[in-house]
Amino acid sequence: MTQSLLDRRRVLGPAYRLFYAEPLHLVRGKGVELFDADGRRYLDAYNNVPVLGHAHPAVVEALARQASLLNTHTRYLHDAVLDYAERLVATFPDPLIRAMFTCSGSEANDLALRIAMTATGGNGVIVTANAYHGVTALLAAMSPSLGLPTAPTVRTVPPPDSYRGQGDVGAAFGRSVAAAVADMRRAGIGVAALLVDTTFASDGLFFDPVDHLDEAVAAVRAAGGLFIADEVQGGFGRSGRMWSFLRHSLVPDLVTLGKPMGNGHPIGGVVTRGDLLDIFGARSRYFNTFGGNTVSAAVGLAVLETIQSEDLPGHAARLGEQLSERLSSLRGHPSVGDIRGTGLYRGIELVTDRETREPATDLAKAVTDDMARNGVLIGVCGGASNVLKIRPPLAFQAAHVEELVEALDKSLSRCAGAQSRER
Ligand code: PMP
Repeated sequence: MTQSLLDRRRVLGPAYRLFYAEPLHLVRGKGVELFDADGRRYLDAYNNVPVLGHAHPAVVEALARQASLLNTHTRYLHDAVLDYAERLVATFPDPLIRAMFTCSGSEANDLALRIAMTATGGNGVIVTANAYHGVTALLAAMSPSLGLPTAPTVRTVPPPDSYRGQGDVGAAFGRSVAAAVADMRRAGIGVAALLVDTTFASDGLFFDPVDHLDEAVAAVRAAGGLFIADEVQGGFGRSGRMWSFLRHSLVPDLVTLGKPMGNGHPIGGVVTRGDLLDIFGARSRYFNTFGGNTVSAAVGLAVLETIQSEDLPGHAARLGEQLSERLSSLRGHPSVGDIRGTGLYRGIELVTDRETREPATDLAKAVTDDMARNGVLIGVCGGASNVLKIRPPLAFQAAHVEELVEALDKSLSRCAGAQSRER
């Protein structure tokens, strides 16, 4: 083990996990490129936090300007947080007219749940089987992907799996959610919310068909519960629309935001209906020391303005089509079971056998490690960790698509060859 790995273990402890068999020591980023301590360049096809690209000048400038002037909290009047909130809520359909700010996606989900629990009087929450929603004790107990027991008030349902699911995926998802509602009722638990990542990222990335949430949301609302769309991963243009829920004809009751919101600066938020915040505000108080601070608001505004002025959702939609077309050329690899996605969010599900659809977990790990070794960063997701996850900064361009797909092609061949030699 190298000294820096040993130092990490000693001082940070073992709960932090590193990416890749040969961990990267990155020192600099620009646009969609990252550079390690030896000056080696990597194409970043994984990180969605730097949505505009690493070290984007508009963000650096807004941050430095506001930090040199004033950084304080939401207990004083300041235009920055208002300007940002106005601009942000204007990107949402009615009746989502109000915003509150946090420092992370976890805090956003935590706040959304407090609002939902206050408004409904229930505390039951439905999540998907391999969901991840955050780091707090409340959210860890409704993030089955962590492998910890879920809370007694939480019910899990299989995601709307367009690859392995049989028949009408949306109807099956709706039936599972209705059964979870019935089970809560039997246990005397009031339904507060259906909380889903509208891209189902940690479940393996499921986007289609576009009405696959309708029946589930109807079942929860019929029981008095609310629909919380977790846009922490899918939000801010990646899907080809500003919000990934917009692909569906549904309007959530609450939307939670994070990751790309500050292009790397820690900001999160909740956008919701006016009446829900009226109820919450009448019964509760909310002060988040750093959430919505002056610098964060200036950064958030710079990120949003750049997304809008550069039409990054449109770019994600157009380049996403090209990416989808080029990824199709990988279907010749026998391990490629399914390729799916929207905009600049794509998953490639690897299987050991296309008939049985047995997840190729080891191969997915080998491919991501091999790609990194060869200078292109991607990730994996899904309950069986067999879905290659492609989620680049939206500054990605056509030449990067070519570089990514060529690297994938080579890695899939190399790793499948190595695995068959091992057998
Ligand atoms: N929701 C989803 C869907 C996420 O992917 C994450 C982070 N991986 C979170 C919530 C939590 O966000 P954060 O790490 O900013 O607290």
